[in-house]
Amino acid sequence: MMKRFHEALSSLRLKGLLRQRRTVEGPQGPLMVVDGVPLLSFASNDYLGLANHSALIQAAHKALDQYGVGAGASALISGHSSAVDELEVALAEWLGYERALHFSTGYMANMGIIPALVGEGAAVFSDALNHACLIDGIRLSAAGSVNVYRHVDMAHLEQLLQESHAAEKWIITDGVFSMDGDIAPMVDLLSLAERFDAQIIMDDAHGLGVLGLEGRGTLAHLGLVSPRIVYMATLGKAAGVFGAFVAGTQDIVNWLEQRARTYMFTTGSPPVLAAAAWASIECIRRDEFRREHLRALGQQLQLGLGGQTPIRGLTPLYSQTAIHPILVGDNASVMRISAALQARGIWVPAIRPPTVPEGQARLRISLSAAHSTDQVEQLITALRALA
Ligand SMILES: *Cc1c(COP(=O)(O)O)cnc(C)c1O
Repeated sequence: MMKRFHEALSSLRLKGLLRQRRTVEGPQGPLMVVDGVPLLSFASNDYLGLANHSALIQAAHKALDQYGVGAGASALISGHSSAVDELEVALAEWLGYERALHFSTGYMANMGIIPALVGEGAAVFSDALNHACLIDGIRLSAAGSVNVYRHVDMAHLEQLLQESHAAEKWIITDGVFSMDGDIAPMVDLLSLAERFDAQIIMDDAHGLGVLGLEGRGTLAHLGLVSPRIVYMATLGKAAGVFGAFVAGTQDIVNWLEQRARTYMFTTGSPPVLAAAAWASIECIRRDEFRREHLRALGQQLQLGLGGQTPIRGLTPLYSQTAIHPILVGDNASVMRISAALQARGIWVPAIRPPTVPEGQARLRISLSAAHSTDQVEQLITALRALA
């Protein structure tokens, strides 16, 4: 039995699929000391540069003095702090929903809300590139059928909806896809949902804070409002903290409070995290300049990599978000390029299967409002020198 794990690990190593974590010293930022080496990082989801912002740190210090560290129990027993309550109210008000419910993490949120909402025997329609925790949430549900449609392929989704005889239908999608950086076609998804009387669960982990007026996310970016859409997002990426939430109508959120098992049977988050997230929302709403700078950096990168003289072997994917993937293809090449960048002092993670489909290994460049145009220029120069 133990031998099996040893052999499986060796096989991963041979295939270039062994994952290795790096140890980061100090706070998040463009310049980080990684395994003892200073690197210019394009590896973080801290898209707005808030993870080490003084307003969040001050709010956290204050909350530590006020609330201490642990929440002591699950939210429904005695662990629901007034700091979390205030955060939920702020989230609902910011995003225009009747109510929001806080979860410890995005992974927990999706593992809780999908099984709680999807009724027994319902048909689920899931984008092929959905995040792992949406897939796991669907696996935990009592869905009668799971229909995976080709990535953002609305004709395929329409066909699957047409063929389904289920009385209850749920379409589940990322708002911004985490490894491709593209935005889900929510306008078309919503009109299909209306036509086939389906509900939608949208995970906006990479859209919140980055897109839309006041950083309200993918739906605001597209000008969409609909009671059919259950909105879920995380607070560990652009918001720079930790945690997640779901927002929707009173009935939906009240039901989740009663039935989402990852909400009910876990210790409440430390109030300090909610207080920091509350401060983060203030910055996100107010500081339009962070989003403007992030967009400008994205355009600079896209122009620098593509344009008239594409780089041989590297295919940048078009992106309007903070995620700028460059398709490479095979695992060995992407590892080689990532290592060559690192030798030049630049950290761009190589993303391999199973995070992306076989043969679609890629560099995943994450930009942050904390990057300077000079730093992005350094990255472009380094990538061009590798070609
Ligand atoms: C990161 C991510 C999650 C998980 O959120 P955590 O708070 O980190 O657990 C969920 N969905 C998507 C699309 C993500 O990218």
